[in-house]
Amino acid sequence: MKIVMIQDKFFDPSRVDDIYFDRGLYFGDGVYEVLRSYKGKIFALDDHLARFERSMKEISILGLDINKVRERVEGAFAKAAIPDAKIYFHVTRGSGPRGHSWDDEMKPNFFLTVSELDDSSEIKEKGVAVSLYPDLRWKRCDIKSLNLLANVLANQDAVKKGCFEAILVNDDGYITEGSSSAFFSINDGKLITTPLAKNILPSITRKYVLKAAKTIGLEVIEKLLRPEEVKAFEETFIGVTTRDIVPVVEFDGVTIGNGMVGKLTKSFIDTFEIFTS
Ligand code: PLP
Repeated sequence: MKIVMIQDKFFDPSRVDDIYFDRGLYFGDGVYEVLRSYKGKIFALDDHLARFERSMKEISILGLDINKVRERVEGAFAKAAIPDAKIYFHVTRGSGPRGHSWDDEMKPNFFLTVSELDDSSEIKEKGVAVSLYPDLRWKRCDIKSLNLLANVLANQDAVKKGCFEAILVNDDGYITEGSSSAFFSINDGKLITTPLAKNILPSITRKYVLKAAKTIGLEVIEKLLRPEEVKAFEETFIGVTTRDIVPVVEFDGVTIGNGMVGKLTKSFIDTFEIFTS
């Protein structure tokens, strides 16, 4: 390599930090996790570590021991001393000259942050509006990959429309999930959500929402829905680790129910609170 330029400056290639040659930057060649704590306790750590380990295995990142990851997460969380924290971490395949294939000897790069969580109390009380966006993603959305361009574009479109989240609609006209959340509807006393397959992320929140449905005594139906069906439903909500359950009161410009947080959605929020306390 002869030239490296960063912004307007030239650098001696041998003196440029390896992180600039990270395959995460070049290709999104890595996987990540987001978890959170409630009142000083990390929630569902084993679930997140299991998903992370699977994501790594699915893309053949084999040089990072999951026990080491657990140690780093717990160590960083203790050091940050934030009771309600958001913990983000990712691993990339490593750093090297840009080339699509990789060398198995490559050493993975690990990155982690701990920060304060955004306050969710207002959106939980009032609910949010969501918009629709085509699901432009690849065919392995079950892997929590760093490639999030389609999700980023969808969410930006939602924000531009004054919405909190974009609900993704596949080429056949069915809802898959949110740009960064799982999607749920309630109708006729039943909870309906997308079945787990390669086209959605196995959301940890989803797992606990299904557990909550059992506690509440609500039947769960896993099936694909079209946006038009959802518009006539009684309640809808999204689920994501950083905020657990967020009621949706407006769906693609249509008011859901009476425009207030539904009774059953509130039961899910309350039940989740029991799981996390
Ligand atoms: N679906 C997508 C595409 C996501 O990015 C996320 C979270 O970031 C979720 C669903 C929710 O997953 P979890 O409940 O594990 O946070």
